Amino acid sequence: TLTTIARDVQVFDLIGQELHRQESGIELIASENFTSKQVMEASGSVLTNKYAEGLPGKRYYGGCEVVDQIEQIAIDRVKELFGATWANVQPHSGAQANTAVFLACLNPGDKIMGFNLAHGGHLTHGSPVNISGKYFQPIFYGVEPDSGVIDWDKVEETALRERPKLLICGASAYSRDWDYIRLRAIADQIGALLMADISHPSGLIAKGLLNDPMEHCHIVTTTTHKTLRGPRGGLIMMKHDFENPFGIKTQKGNLRTMSSLLDSGVFPGTQGGPLEHIIAAKAIAFGEALSEDYYTYAVQVKKNAQAMAKAFLDKGYSIISGGTDNHLMLIDLRSKDLSGKLAENTLIKADITINKNMVPFDDKSPMVTSGMRVGTAAMTTRGLLENDMERIVDLMDEVLMNHDNDTKIATIKQEVNSWMAAYPLYS
Ligand code: PLP
Repeated sequence: TLTTIARDVQVFDLIGQELHRQESGIELIASENFTSKQVMEASGSVLTNKYAEGLPGKRYYGGCEVVDQIEQIAIDRVKELFGATWANVQPHSGAQANTAVFLACLNPGDKIMGFNLAHGGHLTHGSPVNISGKYFQPIFYGVEPDSGVIDWDKVEETALRERPKLLICGASAYSRDWDYIRLRAIADQIGALLMADISHPSGLIAKGLLNDPMEHCHIVTTTTHKTLRGPRGGLIMMKHDFENPFGIKTQKGNLRTMSSLLDSGVFPGTQGGPLEHIIAAKAIAFGEALSEDYYTYAVQVKKNAQAMAKAFLDKGYSIISGGTDNHLMLIDLRSKDLSGKLAENTLIKADITINKNMVPFDDKSPMVTSGMRVGTAAMTTRGLLENDMERIVDLMDEVLMNHDNDTKIATIKQEVNSWMAAYPLYS
């Protein structure tokens, strides 16, 4: 029986090691965060045992009375959080959410237009190694070489020339805000659908700290685990449902709504059974994000990013676009004669985690890169404030300027570990 199964010491020992790694280091990966204990508790709950293909009240399996209520809470809370009128909380990840949208809106070979991966965009917005670039015909817009900022006139020019069916905005490594009003005007000129993938800044958008895409974008997707601080997962939302422009009809001959096509895009289009344990964790995280405490958190994430950007600039580092509006920044290390790979590999020796990242117009390969991406979502959860950001940058600079001095780096690691001991995470 289940009660006689021996504990898997090997795996739990590694989980313990990972907890220690997370607690003792400085986490600056812009896409990561630390969830609350209750979010993790739900993720590891009995809901993992339940099959629930379909939607609340319309399932293909029996015994869904409880998970129906949980999924409905997740939907209701996220609608309130973002001011949406429709949401599907089932995508297993951000990539799955985007793929479901493509399946709902596009035919193979259709043209899509997204932000260049090499300039900070995401793989799922048309990269040739992703389904979005393999099954559809991708074209890209990027940032300007001088400013590091997107020029909306150029986006318009490209869109009018190429006439994509789907225009995608959103990024993984872009520190500036998006002009959704302008993008919608561009999409409307060519009859394209506009999708915003707000995976990175969604927590800040939810609290009104960045421009709001909901009113202007036909479809909004996001991950739930970055600034939003939920479990790993994705979701799709709309502020206004509409009749699909592709003429796809129901069996009764009515035009299907976009929401119905998107629901089908998730299941059965690209997924099987939803992860109800993760959906419960999403519901909890959305509840947390609705709170005043989370607003205070989101404000601090932005303040910390500003403080960190200033500290880097003061030390002579170069930030793409010169600063940040959100939770992250992309640092061009060429002015310091360092590569992203060297920075990542050296900083980790001091228990400071970042990721190497291509910078726009990079002359190095994706495995080397000229940049590093850093974000403040995780360390703000941990309780760090603006002056702490300055200290982090001091430590990072000391490590990087002494990248061949392991003794020095070992001392800095000790400082990092004892500093972080004062900010307990879960224990
Ligand atoms: N979209 C954007 C903009 C992202 O930054 C990411 C993750 O980095 C994703 C989608 C993919 O999310 P996931 O890793 O959950 O598939």
